[in-house]
Amino acid sequence: MSPSGVKLDGASKRHVRPSDATDHPRHPASQPPAGRPPSLRKLSLQTGIVYGPVESRRLGLSLGINLLPTSYKLCSFNCVYCQYGWTKKGALASTQGLADLPSLDAIATAIEAALVQLSSAGKTVESITICGNGEPTLYPDLGAVIEIAKQARDQYQPQARLAILSNSSTVGNKTVRDALEMLDIKVMKFDAGSEEIFQQLNHPRAPIYMGDIVTGLKELKNIILQSLFVQGRVTNADPDSVGLWVEKVREIRPLGVQVYTLEREPADERIGNVSLATLQWIAEEVRWRAGVPVDVF
Ligand code: SF4
Repeated sequence: MSPSGVKLDGASKRHVRPSDATDHPRHPASQPPAGRPPSLRKLSLQTGIVYGPVESRRLGLSLGINLLPTSYKLCSFNCVYCQYGWTKKGALASTQGLADLPSLDAIATAIEAALVQLSSAGKTVESITICGNGEPTLYPDLGAVIEIAKQARDQYQPQARLAILSNSSTVGNKTVRDALEMLDIKVMKFDAGSEEIFQQLNHPRAPIYMGDIVTGLKELKNIILQSLFVQGRVTNADPDSVGLWVEKVREIRPLGVQVYTLEREPADERIGNVSLATLQWIAEEVRWRAGVPVDVF
């Protein structure tokens, strides 16, 4: 376990000397690309504030908290691979005043009710994760939500770690960063090492730039980067793109990196997943060139 509680690959801690250079794997270009569409269909939106618990490969048994509307995805990005489909309602940095967002009172009531129910049934969860129907840091009172969740966690499920899955689009905002620092686990999206690929892959709905995201991520402590690799009309898995991305990972110096590919139908049907061999090669690149632990999912 890493200090954050997120499992990271023990092999990644291997010290690599220059003389090991012949062991370094090559990009598996000679292998047939996977590129097949995932068999699972798109995700349905969460229908309430609290959902699960669900078994997460990354966070164990986890109770989910959705701070976003239940009738549409609200996100600052429009990723080509989004498992919810295209972003029909985008958001800028602030969603203050948006009537579709749940109130703090409703969030507090829903979290407490779910934790009381779990405890009464003698069940425990490993994490409580703020995630849901889009980008959770767009919720205007994120710090207040985290305070509420912390108090409820301490009272009913003190073993659970408080986590967030964020797309990193708001890390330039100090108020958001201060709220994020209150969490035990911060899993932050970072898929592209160049501005061009970032714009093609994540399609920000507002003027958001990769360079600013890198700057903001460097300000945060103990983050896990989560990076999804695809190929097809847009790719971030070719050697040049991976090289640029690894350089940025080295600059950000996260606790660890999680690399994975499509599991569900993407928003853009012209992209597909990459092979396991490609993910493993990417993981080796991170270990070798950035010295950061990696998990392949
Ligand atoms: S950041 Fe997440 S929710 Fe938003 S468009 Fe991308 S994949 Fe979908």
